[in-house]
Amino acid sequence: MKSSWRENCGVFGIWKVPEAAHLNYLGLFALQHRGQEGAGIVSGTHESFWGRRSSGLVSQVFDREALNQLQGETAIGHVRYSTVGNQADKNLQPLWVQGEWGELAVAHNGTLTNAQELRLELESQGSVFQSSVDTEVILHLFARTKGSFRERIDATLSRVAGAFSLLILYRDSKELRLAAIKDPFGFRPLCVGRLQEGYAIGSESCAFDLVGASWEAELEAGEVYEFHSKGVDRWKLNSKAPRTAPCVFEWIYFSRPDSNSFGRSVYEFRKQTGALLAERDQRASLRADLVMGVPDSGIPAAIGYSQQSGLPFEMGLIRNHYIGRTFIEPHQSIRDFRVKIKQNPLPKSLEGKRIVVVDDSIVRGTTSRKINMLLREAGAREIHLRIAAPPTISPCYYGIDTPTENELIASKKSIEEIRDFIFADSLEYLSLEDLRQLTQGASVCHACFSKDYPSGIPKL
Ligand code: AMP
Repeated sequence: MKSSWRENCGVFGIWKVPEAAHLNYLGLFALQHRGQEGAGIVSGTHESFWGRRSSGLVSQVFDREALNQLQGETAIGHVRYSTVGNQADKNLQPLWVQGEWGELAVAHNGTLTNAQELRLELESQGSVFQSSVDTEVILHLFARTKGSFRERIDATLSRVAGAFSLLILYRDSKELRLAAIKDPFGFRPLCVGRLQEGYAIGSESCAFDLVGASWEAELEAGEVYEFHSKGVDRWKLNSKAPRTAPCVFEWIYFSRPDSNSFGRSVYEFRKQTGALLAERDQRASLRADLVMGVPDSGIPAAIGYSQQSGLPFEMGLIRNHYIGRTFIEPHQSIRDFRVKIKQNPLPKSLEGKRIVVVDDSIVRGTTSRKINMLLREAGAREIHLRIAAPPTISPCYYGIDTPTENELIASKKSIEEIRDFIFADSLEYLSLEDLRQLTQGASVCHACFSKDYPSGIPKL
């Protein structure tokens, strides 16, 4: 079950704007890169909630008729990606429950590290769980609390550990409330924008651009924005963390380059990683003819490399963007089908050339190995692979889908052994020290590169 808890997700919400569900749909559409397996929206008034969740892409889950049924000026939504094996619809979010106290819906990005212990404890006390997602413990804990909404949120979240950027929609007989909450470490991004007379809240600012919201703020670590009929209250959770730990991998790979996450332009950050790689190669007098990025995530760093080094930037590979999670392979096998269906080389750019190839990360090493084979078949003479991050040596327990440590190539092989495995002439990564320089000494989470887990790892 635990493997199903490693997931990438995105959340988006609307407070007090007409056609909230339609706008929420657009926001989720802009966050589709954060999860392609399923999507859901729960909308609400102080009298009722309406919801729809289903597997598939945002544009497949909702049509106009479905959105028209989601009434009210307030909504929260979620896009989900889980590892294969637990794609059941019951695991899709927002999770949504009713009680004598009212209704509650929760959309969560991040992973709780003590969910399994809490679940066992709650089950031993009679709770019956409907899904296998970690988020459900939040609903059970909340339902058992008493007091004001704020006291109940505080009491609930003081029990959970790990990463949570949450949208909580709640109504009792009197009022409708929406809370946007970031955990005390601030692992995952969550930002607030102004939209007409109301607000938009989402994982990434690229969603604000689409719905026409203006930027207001990134939530601080441990901060809550509580929207209610009289306005907005901003407050801090009672639970505190020893330091902040925004996920550096959001800048490296996960966030869209047109987003501003944790106060920085993702695109500019990626260009800086490329420039740093280029500086190093200039010092080492690397001789090459062109630089290319592995589309899409390696492109901004490759542009930074090109601008720093003066080496011409070429596409080299063209990516097909229309691949879902499954495609039908012919019975008669086609060599390298799985990589070719995504990436096609441009032999005219590559023939006889010494190429610097920039990618954001190497996980298992299979992508780099296949891409380098394709590039060589297309005529590349030399391949110098540059990775715009340090070696990925350890899994993420805070919301990025990564395989087990054993499957991470850099946890077992030296850089020279990886270079050999992926058929590159040379291979360079950024170092942790480079990362420190790029993050300007900020206190970030880089556990996937360092094993320094700010909030511990799951015991169960
Ligand atoms: P691999 O073949 O396992 O080495 O995968 C490396 C590729 O996966 C890189 O080109 C990355 O762009 C991409 N990647 C890195 N991290 C993730 C992630 N958490 N989810 C999906 N793709 C990723």
